[in-house]
Amino acid sequence: MSDALEVLNPATEELVAVVPAATRDDVDAAVVRATAAQRAWAAAAPADRARLLRRFAAVVDGHIEELALLEVREAGHTIGNARWEAGNVRDVLDFAAGGVERLSGRQIPVAGGIDITFLEPLGVIGVIAPWNFPMPIAAWGLAPALAAGNAVILKPAETTPLTALRLAELALEAGLPEHLFQVLPGRGEVAGDALVEHPGVAKIVFTGSTRIGKRIMAKCADRVKRLTLELGGKNPNIVFADADLEAAAASAPMSFLDNTGQDCCARTRILVQRSAYDRFMELLAPAVEKVVVGDPYDENTQLGPLISRVQLDRVRSYVTDDLTVVRGTAPEGPGFWYPPTLVTGVDPTAAVATEEVFGPVAVVLPFEDEEDAVRLANATDYGLAGSLWTRDVGRALRVSRAVAAGNLSVNSHSSVRYWTPFGGYKQSGLGRELGPDSLTAFTETKNVFISTEA
Ligand code: NAD
Repeated sequence: MSDALEVLNPATEELVAVVPAATRDDVDAAVVRATAAQRAWAAAAPADRARLLRRFAAVVDGHIEELALLEVREAGHTIGNARWEAGNVRDVLDFAAGGVERLSGRQIPVAGGIDITFLEPLGVIGVIAPWNFPMPIAAWGLAPALAAGNAVILKPAETTPLTALRLAELALEAGLPEHLFQVLPGRGEVAGDALVEHPGVAKIVFTGSTRIGKRIMAKCADRVKRLTLELGGKNPNIVFADADLEAAAASAPMSFLDNTGQDCCARTRILVQRSAYDRFMELLAPAVEKVVVGDPYDENTQLGPLISRVQLDRVRSYVTDDLTVVRGTAPEGPGFWYPPTLVTGVDPTAAVATEEVFGPVAVVLPFEDEEDAVRLANATDYGLAGSLWTRDVGRALRVSRAVAAGNLSVNSHSSVRYWTPFGGYKQSGLGRELGPDSLTAFTETKNVFISTEA
């Protein structure tokens, strides 16, 4: 019998859909189709490509509610978050469409002729997406890749194929050429691996665990295949004693709880200057306890379930009975529920303080001074994001420059805007997505010298 993916509603454990899983042969056939579609796409007029991508954005805009409801069903996201995610797909497509006619090479001064560069598409791009933000992360790869003249094969995560499949239908409805953007639901070790190994796939865009990212990087090395990696994070939220403690404590809960903590940017290491620690905890603990966890369709819900039983068990394994915790509440009964949890009094080297839990769990650790804060913030193999809270502008800049992470925010927890670059230092990733250079990441630079002396 052929392999199939069972999609469960994480809030109820009800079966939502059964989707056939792509085989290696399916990947081979998709690459053949994509290769032909890409040639025609790259040859089309830039204005036509831009117009089609803007239409794709407009069709997505007309289906925001439908896509959001699908995301709630298959991923358990709160309805408010799911609407933002569908809107983000529209925005990323619009932003990329604006880049098509601006993807210019350069003219470089040389003697005896002219020297020009071309930004040429790579060919077929394989996007391997995770389950934590299925729609936005898929769009961050596919939109700039298409805009730069490539074809895209998207492999969504096993647990969340439905929004990706719907996006492929909407692309056709918008008039994008057939086979230019294909979606192949399937297993990582089958369809994902086939994309990584396929000689006809020029670049892999992978978002997921650092463990699998490293494996993919090793395989890509064999062919010098282009690669973008967006991996995990164990991000610090540094609260100095001179900060607005009320504002810092009020915003800290959702900075690690949003999307039930299944966010590579979650601020899961709350570092608090010792002189302000007790006061900060007096403010933070009740704020965590009152976070509303429950039915994702309810507009007032702040947190839904975790994605799967596997993820629930993984999160549980980090919060052992010997730890001191502050806990919020979570529903009983079916669904993959876990309450908001703060862990205190733990050694900074403990697993819960160093590994990506990917659940609604943060540790709170004290520090002495600025130097100690930076040392603790950097005591991790990860380097994706971070926040710092202080009223001292000089300190804000010094610490922002000293923390080795790709996305920092001062007196806020913002990480992602589609027009600013996003990506990790150290083992959090390789390359950048979004932002002004997002299209360039899907091109090869060709330099041509033309002699004027012949
Ligand atoms: P994963 O890395 O196994 O899965 C991510 C994607 O990679 C999925 O589409 C999967 O099918 C695919 N994949 C898996 N094995 C592959 C292979 N050998 N070759 C090619 N593709 C492959 O992540 P997971 O097991 O779903 O989650 C485990 C942990 O990873 C989480 O607990 C979390 O810590 C981390 N994670 C991080 C992110 C992120 O945004 N950085 C996203 C998801 C998971």
